[in-house]
Amino acid sequence: MPPSRVLILGGTADAREIAEALAAAGHATISSLAGVTTQPLRPAGALRVGGFGGSNGLARYLAAEHINLVIDGTHPFAAQISRQAMEACVCCDVPLFRFERAPWATQEGDTWIPVPSVGAAAEVLPAGARVLLTIGRRDMAVFFGRPDISGIARMIEPPPASPPPHWRVVCERPPFSEASEVALLDEGAITHVVSKNAGGSSTEAKLTAARKRGIPVVMIARPEKPAVPVFTSRDALLAAVGRVLSP
Ligand code: NAP
Repeated sequence: MPPSRVLILGGTADAREIAEALAAAGHATISSLAGVTTQPLRPAGALRVGGFGGSNGLARYLAAEHINLVIDGTHPFAAQISRQAMEACVCCDVPLFRFERAPWATQEGDTWIPVPSVGAAAEVLPAGARVLLTIGRRDMAVFFGRPDISGIARMIEPPPASPPPHWRVVCERPPFSEASEVALLDEGAITHVVSKNAGGSSTEAKLTAARKRGIPVVMIARPEKPAVPVFTSRDALLAAVGRVLSP
């Protein structure tokens, strides 16, 4: 029998780790990236890059590539592709699992300002705030458009448009250490950190650094994702894959 074909919707370190484990277990994996990063880290197994063309395009892809299982390993804030994956899998009767890292939770010493959206995060910042902005390269405009706040915007690759002069862009790929995050807060005279509640360890050091410096974190809540089987542990996900597929 040919090996089972698993499509992994990726763009995260978790998805790369899942691809590696499934490939090692003998499954034929195809990792899919949106193509937003020009130099992505390459996962194990096959790779395809670029959108599918909505849920109908994804459904056509699943049928054409004889996909037996889809694993949604996308970022917790990538809501559109998760919805499209659910619609396409229902349409093609292909099982769909989602891997989702647990969100971060406040700890003693934290001052979080919870907000429901990126727009709300930009609105809640007081005039004069010096901000460490860690929300990726999209959605910068609402922050850059405020003349009364400034700071450092960190992302993996440069933004599509240059920032205004009162902002500095730092391009770096996680993981980050607590020491380097504290140094960045100090160097930028940062008064507020803005973060999506992404969860995971590779970008968590900004939170411990903010705690150490007594700096508030404007924490953007996750968007809703569709109700499909969700795993927060990689081992539990791999065990479930083993139950529905044989390599
Ligand atoms: P999104 O809003 O949910 O999706 C936008 C469109 O991008 C989708 O409609 C789809 O295009 C395409 N797409 C997204 N993920 C894809 C994938 N894995 N393979 C193929 N096409 C994909 O997604 P997003 O927030 O722009 O994120 C894009 C990618 O970056 C995701 O893969 C995500 O895991 C990663 N990422 C996102 C964030 C974040 O904060 N949003 C952070 C880190 C990494 P079509 O409709 O044409 O199929």
